[in-house]
Amino acid sequence: MKSEVLAVEGWRKVVHFTDELAGLNAIIAVHDATLGPGCGGCRIYPYASFEAGLEDVKNLSRGMTYKNAMGGIPFGGGKAVIFADPKKDKTPEMLKAFARAVDSLEGLYYTAEDSGVTEADLALIRSVTKYAAGMETKGVGGNPSPFTARGVWRGMQAAAKRKFGKDSLKGLTVSILGVGAVGMELARLIHEEGGKLVVADVNQDAVKEAVTRFGAETATPEDAIAVDVDIFAPCALGGSINAETLPRLKAKIVAGAANNQLKTPDMDQALKDKGVLYCPDYVINAAGVISVGLEILGAWTTDEMNQRIDAIGGRLSDIFNRAEAENAPTGAIADKMALEVIAKGRKAA
Ligand code: NAD
Repeated sequence: MKSEVLAVEGWRKVVHFTDELAGLNAIIAVHDATLGPGCGGCRIYPYASFEAGLEDVKNLSRGMTYKNAMGGIPFGGGKAVIFADPKKDKTPEMLKAFARAVDSLEGLYYTAEDSGVTEADLALIRSVTKYAAGMETKGVGGNPSPFTARGVWRGMQAAAKRKFGKDSLKGLTVSILGVGAVGMELARLIHEEGGKLVVADVNQDAVKEAVTRFGAETATPEDAIAVDVDIFAPCALGGSINAETLPRLKAKIVAGAANNQLKTPDMDQALKDKGVLYCPDYVINAAGVISVGLEILGAWTTDEMNQRIDAIGGRLSDIFNRAEAENAPTGAIADKMALEVIAKGRKAA
């Protein structure tokens, strides 16, 4: 295994790992470790170039710094990317080599699931390094997606209360872009509460499942943002709110699981100007990593997890209040609050 520390300004540590025999080409990035070791998932994706992967792991690891701070767990921001197609290139040898790379950082980074990595993959990684979490052991922790979905649902309820003065999602319509692990569970929760659904996905089987199980209506992925609904929930890839899509957005609330929903930072203010209540992505989708964090700390119980998930709604309400008081967009307020948490942690250290 070869490793090269990359000089990346503003990051605690960024390392490029290669193991030709095992087919591993990966970057691990730890953005900030003030509150604790960097913690965040590993993404396996066939990036078009090394630069594209580096850019992604930088953005994702920085996002984790903010997410973990606002999630109230003692971890900094970290993330890993493996340059590969998870459907074609993923092998046990590759995953074990990745685990050795994680292990070589001696606890500066804890890994977990992200796109392209399953719970079974993680179990294999965990057999090599103790610096991995996100698989269920003795009824504790496990696949974070259902927790993430529940957290998004709680956040959506807080936003509906704020925007429409409603105590539940009953009678509201939500357009979900991406009914995968998180989006499908979110759809179930909304459906059970009496909400209506429009779903869109490139995977037609997933769309069919949502139609059958929840009586959802359907839209094309391109039109999911433009349908006349109360809430838009981006649960596929990042960047769905951008200069081209924003004029087509009809919903009054954006509340979804995807990371980096705003393609450019100016979308935060633009959503506010349009009268749309935006639930900052890393706050509303934090339940998965909160579960992973509790698992690492050995503090995972169902009660603790449920309390933490419910707190996401309260945290968003705090953000909405402060955004109104300061006449600022919600994303900027969330960033400000996260930096305050980190500054407090720095002082306490
Ligand atoms: P997933 O891969 O299970 O689901 C994603 C779904 O989006 C799939 O059904 C896929 O077919 C669909 N999709 C992909 N590209 C699309 C496109 N262009 N148009 C429409 N649909 C498309 O992933 P997931 O675990 O459900 O995560 C969803 C999002 O939430 C991701 O952005 C992920 O990074 C983020 N997230 C997930 C978690 C978690 O716990 N799983 C936690 C935090 C954030």
